[in-house]
Amino acid sequence: MRPLRAAAIASMLWLLSLTSAGQPPIVPSRTELTPGVFLFTTPGYGDVGLDGNSIAVLSRDGVLVFDTNGTPRASAAVLAEIRKLTPQPVRWIVNSHWHWDHWYGTETYQQAFPDVRIVSHEKNRQLMMGPALEFNRPGLEKGLPGYLETLEKRAAADASLKPLLAEDRFFLEQKTRVRHTFPNVTFSDRLTIEMGERHIEVLNYGRGVTPGDAIVYLPAEKLLLVGDLIVNPITFALSGFPTEWLRVLERIDALDTTTIVTGHGAPLRDKALLRTTMEVFRVLLREGKAAKERGLTPDQAKDAIMPGLRDLMLQLTGDDEAKNGAFRTQLVDWYLHRVYDELNGPLTDAIAAIPPA
Ligand SMILES: [Zn+2]
Repeated sequence: MRPLRAAAIASMLWLLSLTSAGQPPIVPSRTELTPGVFLFTTPGYGDVGLDGNSIAVLSRDGVLVFDTNGTPRASAAVLAEIRKLTPQPVRWIVNSHWHWDHWYGTETYQQAFPDVRIVSHEKNRQLMMGPALEFNRPGLEKGLPGYLETLEKRAAADASLKPLLAEDRFFLEQKTRVRHTFPNVTFSDRLTIEMGERHIEVLNYGRGVTPGDAIVYLPAEKLLLVGDLIVNPITFALSGFPTEWLRVLERIDALDTTTIVTGHGAPLRDKALLRTTMEVFRVLLREGKAAKERGLTPDQAKDAIMPGLRDLMLQLTGDDEAKNGAFRTQLVDWYLHRVYDELNGPLTDAIAAIPPA
């Protein structure tokens, strides 16, 4: 075949592979964590969203998927990869918590496997069915469309921004059209799943990053999937439950594991990042309480406490500027606001707003 013709056919095939909105297919990257258990990571959504990790546990009698990505397009890409690995159906889904990037892709699995059992903590299901959707609404109706308008203007002057604009637009369209697919099995403390040769424990250790986090533990494989209870490298402490969360992490630390998969980022092969994050929590609980007693506001407390956290920060960030910024805002600032909320009275299960920057 002449090279020119081959190129023409290749580009035609690429065009045919485009989705209706003109976006090329996502290719997830795949890591085998232990024989037959795979982590899939998908690229971010333009410059407007990160996707959560999705993990497939294969067995001789079906597949369990832990977290289902943030859009149907991403979960469809992960399911396509699972189908290359096994002819077995997806029998179980576990959604770790209510953040959209961990469950908005569930419809893909329910369409493909109508009998699939979708598991979450009972409090998490309640949040998904109302409060989580309300929490996302301002972003979908105002924040993201407003950002797209400014990006459109910039792209009109700078054509190199057009692919990014198309990606961001497609993300908004996907998120707006998603068919929210809710858990149909709930648990409170523990649910045990025997799937083929796999013994799988779905656990909740109390309130952590959300009121109803689900973790999955495979004791024989020494593998633990923790969702956003820990994020590699910087944990995202919005609306968490400071004291209880530390207790949860202490119980996680006590489990016999060789691999811990966080809600985002590369899997952990040791407990260093877990323990450093726990130490940051301890400092913030202790110093936050002392700062409040001295009459400081949460923002003043942050400025007073940050210098003492520098060594711990560098362990997590390697002094990368963007990661330092995430440490300061998403971990220290947001966690401290919740330390203050907790000291002001018992925390309810309601979703707290993002503290003003
Ligand atoms: Zn997340």
